[in-house]
Amino acid sequence: MSDIRQPLYGDAATRAREQLAEAPVPSDLDVAVSVAQQLLGSSSVPALRESLRLLLRALGAEPTTLPDAVEPPPLRCPAAYPQDPTPCGGPTVVTVLDRTGAGANGCEHHGARLLASLEGGRVYPLPDAPDGAAIRVFKAAASTLPYAWVKRGEGQ
Ligand SMILES: [Zn+2]
Repeated sequence: MSDIRQPLYGDAATRAREQLAEAPVPSDLDVAVSVAQQLLGSSSVPALRESLRLLLRALGAEPTTLPDAVEPPPLRCPAAYPQDPTPCGGPTVVTVLDRTGAGANGCEHHGARLLASLEGGRVYPLPDAPDGAAIRVFKAAASTLPYAWVKRGEGQ
């Protein structure tokens, strides 16, 4: 068994060169597929774009002009609970704090839902909030059930 860290000389070197020459050269498509399989779970947009580009090029389907950027899905304000499927009701205009002082900024809609779900919660307008934003959130929260997005069955 030869030490692979040592350079090869003589017959061993010749054999290695021959093996390399005979090894099938992967096609562009093989490479693109391999890259796509490795990147399938990636959350990196540039990496995924590069993978798509390699695939399209290997298939001869690379567009000559780049399409317009695809808009990402709208982000929701930090006050939106992950379980709450509703979209934001406008810009982020209030801060909702719980009784420990921990809080989140939110739109009026999610601010009200968050405030309604907190015991001893408070709401403050952000510096550039329109007049009455915090009052509207406060009033909306008063008529909103806690965890308003939870489906409630009969008798609960
Ligand atoms: Zn929101």
